[in-house]
Amino acid sequence: MTASFTYAPLPARVLFGAGRAAELPAEVAALGARRAMLLSTPDQREMAARIAAPLDGVLVAGFSGAAMHTPLEVTERALEAVREAACDVLVAVGGGSTTGLAKALALRTDLPQVVIPTTYAGSEVTSILGQTEGGMKSTLRSPKVLPEVVIYDPELTLSLSPALSATSGLNAIAHAVEALYAHDANPVVSLMAEEGIRALGATLPAILGNPRDEEARAGALYGAWLCGTCLGAVGMALHHKLCHVLGGTFDLSHAETHAVVLPHVAAYNAPAAPEAMGRAARALGTEDAGVGFAVLAARLGTPRTLRDLGMPEEGIATAVRLTLESTYPNPRTPDAASLTALLRRAWAGEPPA
Ligand code: NAD
Repeated sequence: MTASFTYAPLPARVLFGAGRAAELPAEVAALGARRAMLLSTPDQREMAARIAAPLDGVLVAGFSGAAMHTPLEVTERALEAVREAACDVLVAVGGGSTTGLAKALALRTDLPQVVIPTTYAGSEVTSILGQTEGGMKSTLRSPKVLPEVVIYDPELTLSLSPALSATSGLNAIAHAVEALYAHDANPVVSLMAEEGIRALGATLPAILGNPRDEEARAGALYGAWLCGTCLGAVGMALHHKLCHVLGGTFDLSHAETHAVVLPHVAAYNAPAAPEAMGRAARALGTEDAGVGFAVLAARLGTPRTLRDLGMPEEGIATAVRLTLESTYPNPRTPDAASLTALLRRAWAGEPPA
């Protein structure tokens, strides 16, 4: 892999550390902004208001309707609020859904974004935006949507439920796994990928035991940053394509879908990507990455079947068709028969093969 590669890191200012959300006013001021729009989901409205309170007179508007998969109608309502209040900066406090809304607004307005992530999704360090319209999810890449400032404050993740911590953590690990065998992989991103898997693999079980373990929370958020950076830096493969199709078509929960699918795609790709999977296994401290991910998922008690997430069995054929229609580069070339078998196993909760 070192013979020839391209490395093009994305520009972002990243602040990391417990309590650093308090630096929000200074970061907004450094952007030269005076009229902030605060974004959150309905669930995190109070948390966002508490974090943004020190902005005082700079906080001129709020929108707490962010939703999973960035539905177009939500973006349009938020856009109206941004225009009405003549905002000049977007402040997002939350997981990938809230970050997605900030990015969708930045795409349409070119406003700068300060994102304070509270899950492990990693969207804050990518220039990728997924949006849904009429049940179809489409993805674009644009420098316009890359947040200018990211503040990682592990204290804000203490309230993330153990179940969501586990699935969100596996979502992050999936970014790193696919970065290791990406068609445009490079040595620096692969180092981040290995370290990201290691950091999350070591801390997620501790978080499940004690969700308020500050050291484990800091380690997991550090891992999530690295994994998110991998997602933003190189192309993703079959796992992300499948999750994208499943989430968009059947409205399945994003992080849970990643958690179910990861061990299956890891096993599927293993024979075609031995070096990458060897590195993933090393990062997990196991012999075999496919088995390692299945064991980690079992330890974390994450959902094991697409059926339980609400996918109809007859949807398997649709998912296979949509995946093959415009598949991403993948170490093993997918075909209808093997993909159908993979999805059947993931749907029913059979062991990865
Ligand atoms: P989410 O943002 O939808 O959060 C899930 C729920 O948990 C929400 O109700 C939220 O309010 C709550 N929550 C989040 N953090 C919390 C905390 N610390 N304490 C208490 N409650 C908290 O879920 P997600 O998995 O982070 O994001 C999923 C979305 O992100 C999807 O739409 C996905 O497509 C997108 N995504 C995009 C990218 C990208 O690069 N474009 C990357 C990853 C995910």
